[in-house]
Amino acid sequence: MPDEEYLYVECQCHSMDHVVRFTRFDDGEYWLHMQMTPWGGFFRRLWRAIKYVCGKLDDPHWGETILSPENRQQIVDFLNRD
Ligand SMILES: [Zn+2]
Repeated sequence: MPDEEYLYVECQCHSMDHVVRFTRFDDGEYWLHMQMTPWGGFFRRLWRAIKYVCGKLDDPHWGETILSPENRQQIVDFLNRD
């Protein structure tokens, strides 16, 4: 018997990069997993790494997941289940 349960929520844009996973553990702990925004090819990522090391990275790493009414109800049901 698994000691954790999952709920996968798909974004309304259907991008796999925007799928969010909720995990509920037997001890009552919940985790929320999400894909970080991809940053392009090697040189773009290298440039971002250099900026990060120098403390000059000023743009946040945020994406978004657009929730449908069904998604919202699934999340509420998942979080309120005993
Ligand atoms: Zn999306």
